[in-house]
Amino acid sequence: MTEAAVDRHVVIVGASLAGTRTAQNLRVLGHTGRVTLVGAEAELPYDRPPLSKRLLQGEWSEAAAQEIRLATQEELDEREVELRLGSAAVGLDSAARLVQLADGTSVPYDALVIATGAAARPSPWRPPSGVYQLRTLNDSRAIAARLALGEPVVVVGGGFIGTEIAAAAVGYGCPVTIVDPLPEPMARLVGPEIAGSLVELHRRNGVRTRFGTGVVAIEGKAGELTVELASGERLAASTTVVGIGSVPSTDWLADSGLKLDNGVVTDRFLRASGADDVYAIGDVARWPHPGRGVDVRAEHWTNASDQAMYVATALTRGVEAGYEPTDYVWSDQYDWKVNTFGWRDPAGSSTVIGDLQADSRAAVIHTDAQGAACGAVTVNWVRALNQARRLLAAGASSDSVVDTIRQLA
Ligand SMILES: Cc1cc2nc3c(=O)[nH]c(=O)nc-3n(C[C@H](O)[C@H](O)[C@H](O)COP(=O)(O)OP(=O)(O)OC[C@H]3O[C@@H](n4cnc5c(N)ncnc54)[C@H](O)[C@@H]3O)c2cc1C
Repeated sequence: MTEAAVDRHVVIVGASLAGTRTAQNLRVLGHTGRVTLVGAEAELPYDRPPLSKRLLQGEWSEAAAQEIRLATQEELDEREVELRLGSAAVGLDSAARLVQLADGTSVPYDALVIATGAAARPSPWRPPSGVYQLRTLNDSRAIAARLALGEPVVVVGGGFIGTEIAAAAVGYGCPVTIVDPLPEPMARLVGPEIAGSLVELHRRNGVRTRFGTGVVAIEGKAGELTVELASGERLAASTTVVGIGSVPSTDWLADSGLKLDNGVVTDRFLRASGADDVYAIGDVARWPHPGRGVDVRAEHWTNASDQAMYVATALTRGVEAGYEPTDYVWSDQYDWKVNTFGWRDPAGSSTVIGDLQADSRAAVIHTDAQGAACGAVTVNWVRALNQARRLLAAGASSDSVVDTIRQLA
């Protein structure tokens, strides 16, 4: 059971999804003490998935950018959330219970929630201009301006963000090439079955792929870049977008005494190891996954949102059970809506239901090495996703999940 009290000063560092939702949930759950939300970015909190979807794949506009805010100033004022935006935390003294900010001030806390998320893994290639990365609203604005030129784009990294950027660039009429050193980059996320169909989808939309070969160098400048591949091929590009993963934002915690290992390491109650009354949530947290039996750092919207609710509950009411993840992720590419639930065990097996070539609607059910159903991926098939989700949560056998989804087909 965690310790709860509604009158403490809760300081939340990181004013994005996990941090903002924690502040909102604390008030909804009856927290009466001070709530301070510290954020490095100067603007009001906003949502990130639309940065590569609605904003980039549609018409980028300042009005649309306002619609992705996670809270208005009025709401935060009404909920008495004290905002310290534009002030990054630079240190934590957990013995004195103080968060040090870049402007030289310190914020005292009774309980601290670390929600500093992750940053794009920096590009190792840095010509003077023309290389972009996507993590913030400003990044999305800058990339949209480049795509609007309709000139050749090379996307480095074939994960969800890279492929969504590629789909957006196609929409702007840009010739697009995706490069990734892995032979099947999307297989990590959705399994080889749907990964193959996704690659075909991109090719049908005119995207060229160079998989199984990495980038050696990017030279030149915006408008006249050369991307040199390990295969020796040289690709001309006006713009390059590098999406090669992310790194947890923990630099400011280097001297804090907290256990850091690819994120802030927590126990199953999301309490940070190494200090009292400190929690870590969202993309920055590395926590013990009860289903997989290993520590994971999830970089997914639903996880950040669920952990914000879990920690707000722990702080206000106390919790007896550890955090149970939902493990849900989605991606939008052209007219495909890809949803994944649960996980894929590389030592297990997968069953494909439907035919992606025939009707652009399919599901894959993953079974783990012990024979239990552990995950599902669906394309354009919300009913199958919801059914699989319900059955997986109820612990149904792999055969019954497969049979039920087959009947839907
Ligand atoms: C382009 C894009 C598309 C995505 N699409 C999807 C999707 O389709 N589905 C999905 O499930 N997930 C998606 N995600 C992932 C999802 O957005 C993240 O999982 C979610 O944003 C995590 O929220 P968070 O609050 O933990 O961290 P973040 O969103 O990373 O926010 C952390 C905040 O902390 C701030 N911060 C960092 N360091 C400090 C500091 N020292 N002091 C103060 N503040 C600090 C940062 O500036 C940032 O505002 C996408 C992410 C991106 C970038």
